[in-house]
Amino acid sequence: MNKINWNFDNTYSNLPESFISKTSPKPVKSPELVIFNYHLAKELSLDFSLTDKKDLSKLFSGNLLPKGSNTIAQAYAGHQFGHFTMLGDGRAVLIGEHISKNNERFDIQFKGSGQTAFSRNGDGRAALGPMLREYIISEAMHSLNVPTTRSLAVVKTGEDVVRENILQGAILTRVASSHLRVGTFQYAAMRNKESELRTLIDYTINRHYPNIKKSKNKAIDLLKVLIELQIDLVVNWMRVGFIHGVMNTDNMAISGETIDYGPCAFMDAYDPQTVFSSIDQFGRYSYSNQPNITKWNLARFAECLIPLIDPNKDKAIEIATETINNFDKNYEIKWINMMRDKLGLFGQDPKDLVLILDLLTWMHKNKADYTNTFCILMNENVQKNKIYEDENFIIWKKRWEERLKLNNNNPEKFLKLMRSVNPLIIPRNHKVEEALEAANNNNLSPLIKLIKILEKPYDKQQENIDYQSPAPLGNKKYQTFCGT
Ligand code: AMP
Ligand code: MG
Repeated sequence: MNKINWNFDNTYSNLPESFISKTSPKPVKSPELVIFNYHLAKELSLDFSLTDKKDLSKLFSGNLLPKGSNTIAQAYAGHQFGHFTMLGDGRAVLIGEHISKNNERFDIQFKGSGQTAFSRNGDGRAALGPMLREYIISEAMHSLNVPTTRSLAVVKTGEDVVRENILQGAILTRVASSHLRVGTFQYAAMRNKESELRTLIDYTINRHYPNIKKSKNKAIDLLKVLIELQIDLVVNWMRVGFIHGVMNTDNMAISGETIDYGPCAFMDAYDPQTVFSSIDQFGRYSYSNQPNITKWNLARFAECLIPLIDPNKDKAIEIATETINNFDKNYEIKWINMMRDKLGLFGQDPKDLVLILDLLTWMHKNKADYTNTFCILMNENVQKNKIYEDENFIIWKKRWEERLKLNNNNPEKFLKLMRSVNPLIIPRNHKVEEALEAANNNNLSPLIKLIKILEKPYDKQQENIDYQSPAPLGNKKYQTFCGT
């Protein structure tokens, strides 16, 4: 095999022993590459152009470990649907931290690579469908300009995984700016060793937020940074109609990237209560509850930091509470500005909020497609739909057009703004399912086509107009399952 320019510098392994468990990916029977992300490899300054498929299969199944890797499973805890438990990488292994030519650090992680010390009763394995799903959606999110972990490869293992059915096993290579989670801090806090917590905070700040390295109160500044990043993230989700589906604290990354694509999906008809996950019975992680849950998770993060915010516990709680309570105000500001962008509105008008809410209410009442309604406003050629002839929509549109006049600039500018934030193409649920089903039956063409189309979600792709439409009426309600 030709030499691949991996450049590993594995800092996480130097954390206190309790944070890690040395472990290797468990070799698989007959690895076979399904898909490989050459664009991403290039961004990582890795050149696989001379590596043949057989070697890629060995490399990205863990059967052949790259030089310089140091394989570990990470310890973490988390609130799952509100209940606190000890977790950890039960089916994932960190291969190492690769440094690109731009001096950026990336975690290279295998998901589905066999049992670890944290597997509890699980088999440590993953199935082909969910791993390809993570590949499709995470790469789509990246192209939609939403911060996210990335997907480098999916390899079939040649082994069965037993779930409700027997499925084909697969391993995903995930690339992330780190795998530090709120749950990592919960784990450190639960151990009640202040020195370990301090080490984790310093590690996080060195790795992600060096500009607060010299801050007087690192803990509170880290909390403030995370609040802003998570607000930006959830506002982005709201912008594109993304529903994460399992916003447990272990699935909230300290880097501010979207992480852990399990039962996530994109909303079609606008309904704030939309839930796709089969296990989310009470709508805890519904579309409109995502900001509340983000705040709730941040409060759990703040709790971990209390001992380092102030030696006086009451004072520390007071400071943390005050900081967390800024969430609502800051979220509202960023959300309304995002919605203004979606409508091409520059500046501020006191009636903007009502204008926005009236559109959303109309969409909800009329089951209008969230993505396509904004396409209609941009005069895009989307599937014809009589609802846009509705009188109330026409009246609303007149009010919007009046408001656009206040922009006080060239009319082309508002369309340019709208085009930069309103995708024409999102991963439509039925298209994702179609691609996964074909891939399960060894036909990769629909998958490859879908991934290619999703690389340019803001571009007109006249020949792919059918990828802009929601599932045909009469399709049964879409449901997703946790990616195990
Ligand atoms: P997730 O739903 O992917 O966020 O996973 C939640 C927790 O369950 C994490 O600690 C995972 O490592 C663990 N887990 C999920 N699937 C498996 C599996 N097949 N075997 C072992 N652990 C698993
Ligand atoms: Mg998880």
